[in-house]
Amino acid sequence: MAEAPKYEMPKAYEPGKVEQKWYKFWLDKGYFAPKIDPKKKPFVIIMPPPNVTGELHIGHALTATLEDIMTRWHRMKGEPTLWLPGVDHAGIAAQVVVEQLLAEEGRDRHQLGREKFIERMRQWAEKCRTTIAEQHQRLGVSCDWSRERFTLDEGPSRAVRTAFVRLYDKGLIYRGERIINWCPRCATALSDLEVDHKEVTGHLYYVRYPLEGDKEFITVATTRPETILGDTAVAVNPRDKRFKAMLGKKVVLPAVNRVIPIIADEAVDPDFGTGAVKITPAHDPVDFDIAQRQGLPLVNILNLDVTMNENAGPYAGLDRFDCRRAILADLERNGLLVKVEPYTHSVGHCDRCQVVIEPLASKQWFINTQPLAQAAIKAVLDRRIAIIPPRFTKVYLNWMENIRDWCISRQLWWGHRIPVWYCRDCGEVTVAIDQPKSCRHCASASIEQDPDVLDTWFSSALWTHSTLGWPDETQELAYFYPTTVMETGYDILFFWVARMVMMGLEDTGDIPFGTVYLHGLVRDEKGEKMSKLKGNVLNPIDTLEKYGTDALRFALSTDISPGNDIKMTAPRLEAGRNFANKLWNATRFVVRSLEPEGTDMKIQRDELPVEDRWILSRLSGTVSTVTRLMDNFQFGEAQRQLHDFLWGEFCDWYIEFAKIRLSSGEVPSPVPVLVYVLETSLRLLHPFMPFVTEELWQNLKQRLPPDWQATESIMLAAYPEADETAIDPQAERVMESIIEIIHSIRNARAQYKVESNRWVEAQVYAGELTPAITPYSPAIQTLARARPVTFLARREGAPPGENILALVLKDAEVFIPMESMVDLQAERERLQEEIEQSQAEVARLEARLKDKAFLTKAPPSVVDKERDKLAVRKDKLERLKQQLGRFD
Ligand SMILES: [Zn+2]
Ligand SMILES: [Zn+2]
Repeated sequence: MAEAPKYEMPKAYEPGKVEQKWYKFWLDKGYFAPKIDPKKKPFVIIMPPPNVTGELHIGHALTATLEDIMTRWHRMKGEPTLWLPGVDHAGIAAQVVVEQLLAEEGRDRHQLGREKFIERMRQWAEKCRTTIAEQHQRLGVSCDWSRERFTLDEGPSRAVRTAFVRLYDKGLIYRGERIINWCPRCATALSDLEVDHKEVTGHLYYVRYPLEGDKEFITVATTRPETILGDTAVAVNPRDKRFKAMLGKKVVLPAVNRVIPIIADEAVDPDFGTGAVKITPAHDPVDFDIAQRQGLPLVNILNLDVTMNENAGPYAGLDRFDCRRAILADLERNGLLVKVEPYTHSVGHCDRCQVVIEPLASKQWFINTQPLAQAAIKAVLDRRIAIIPPRFTKVYLNWMENIRDWCISRQLWWGHRIPVWYCRDCGEVTVAIDQPKSCRHCASASIEQDPDVLDTWFSSALWTHSTLGWPDETQELAYFYPTTVMETGYDILFFWVARMVMMGLEDTGDIPFGTVYLHGLVRDEKGEKMSKLKGNVLNPIDTLEKYGTDALRFALSTDISPGNDIKMTAPRLEAGRNFANKLWNATRFVVRSLEPEGTDMKIQRDELPVEDRWILSRLSGTVSTVTRLMDNFQFGEAQRQLHDFLWGEFCDWYIEFAKIRLSSGEVPSPVPVLVYVLETSLRLLHPFMPFVTEELWQNLKQRLPPDWQATESIMLAAYPEADETAIDPQAERVMESIIEIIHSIRNARAQYKVESNRWVEAQVYAGELTPAITPYSPAIQTLARARPVTFLARREGAPPGENILALVLKDAEVFIPMESMVDLQAERERLQEEIEQSQAEVARLEARLKDKAFLTKAPPSVVDKERDKLAVRKDKLERLKQQLGRFD
């Protein structure tokens, strides 16, 4: 039976022709889905779900690359490996996007109504979900698509309701009036984490409050004068002697004439403003706490669209900033505005729409996070969870120790509706996982669900267990939970990682993951954050189309270390593309050397020449190093070691030596070692550059005897393990010395600009390595273009004289007669000519500097310049003379 023809490898690597073919092959074969094997410990990553707000950005590509490296590596190590993908409904972020789309159509969500708007959101989310999955596939991710989840799917949604009800029943979820961050544009409450604090240059206004029944005043300072309307006290520090006499008195609030007390409270900073501060409990979190302690009333002065409400008296109906202007004008007219100072202070902005948020007292749902944080702190202190890089452990613990209650209700439509029903008859609440038919307290059927939805991070906090089937006791949950690694950006350590630890422990009694790996941000070539506004965004799909996916992945994981930002530059991408091409060319050479067929692939260990023992030893060393680095999450360094071995040792040297041997027909043939090292290296590199390694491995495999590789894909082949018996320090020392000798001659040739077709002479003294190196004389000749190469028996044998270039290396010395590199007579003449020119120049400068007219007329700086010139010329002349001396 005739064998199927083996197709010729094309001259150049074309990623576009290869990538989609292999992705489809892997997917169709079902390689990405793990097989549950109770005898083996699985490796599990739950992918951070991208938001359904559009397309993937370069940060997602970094996440995908790192997680795919880990997943492919563990799969090749034979572990049942689950990488579970998904997408996040993204609450406010996605709602803002669709609202903008509606605005372009001249509509808003209220015109659509809640039901139709959610339908529209679902269509949008479905579109994004498809795009995101397609883009992930282009990046080569080997995640299990059969388990893909969406936060609003029925399973994760039931997990959300179950977690809510359990926390409520434990008394850890409550509804209360607290100061929350209100975004007037998004018309919703925000958690503290969703607020960007920016330094803003504003003003500090000093305002006099008249004492009741008195001609005196007390002066307070404020950055938000409109909030005067909501003041319910003036407070001073109890130890502040300046205000002792005023304590207990009352003041009349300007503009609205409400009478409020002057009180003492420890929280007042005597150094701020005048030392007396206004207390606005409904619009400031610190004042809210003071009011709770002191039993002060709350006066809310804002409507939710941030216009002033009826409590603002004459200002009711004005926008908050118009009110500020109006009240300042009135204060000034009444002589109550003492002074205005420029003042830089921190102002909260909505992190979605950048509108200035308004702190206001509002009835919202909260999680009492302190008891949850205790368990989350313990899990890290007990080292059940490790954070990489370790410096983030402190950041995590500090945040947990100072945690505040988490406001989880949002006045949005897109998200998980809060599972709370209010009774119209008895006013009690019913909290339930599934829609109740009646009030749990009075059995009335007249109940109404809370209109709000949950903070999108609430469902994210459950992601590691809700995706595996919790609250049901599924086989997946039992086998894959706790997961192994949570890989994500350090920028969402609090938003997400910290909350997953709290909720994972709370819901399942176990940690959600054993290791947190935090990566940095991908910045542009100047180190700036990428943003659409700056126009420096790098689209991962455009990039992989230009350079190839493996090149993009290589660029993303080059030189990275956990927690540090990286700069994405064109040279990095080019280096990735060049590396793929280098491997392509090396494999083409190896594949060609496999003809004629029937070459014996067995490596005869006892008769290997030095270069074979060297490359096998270096391969084994590289496998050990790479494995150790991967175990320590140093993927950037692991990839660099692999790159340097493959390019700098295998391609640059071993293949060159092999070519010499192949052309001379020497035995043993280098082919078995070429194939062995290449095949092993491709497997080592596969997790980093999956497409080119699969293509090359398949090309190699189809030309090898059937027993060589049993698996149908490199994905399923075993990850290499170091062969300790191959370590050969003596072979490494000899080869390093040979390489150094060739390098030194090449460098000398370059330094003296020796033409490439000219042969130079070299004499080598290699001490005790001489017997081992001597047989490589022909290789040194070929690779360094040196002929003859003679070996000196003793160092004293080195030819004396000035015409010899002597190079001292680690284990050897190399002597190159100058005349073998340059034409001595011509060089002598050239130097002579240059010396004469220099001498003339020196003479001219010396004459000038003796010229009295010049010295008196020229500005001192010009004279100094001429003096410097002379010194430089004299120095050059000296060196030229020395050079010429070497030829005499
Ligand atoms: Zn907003
Ligand atoms: Zn009721």
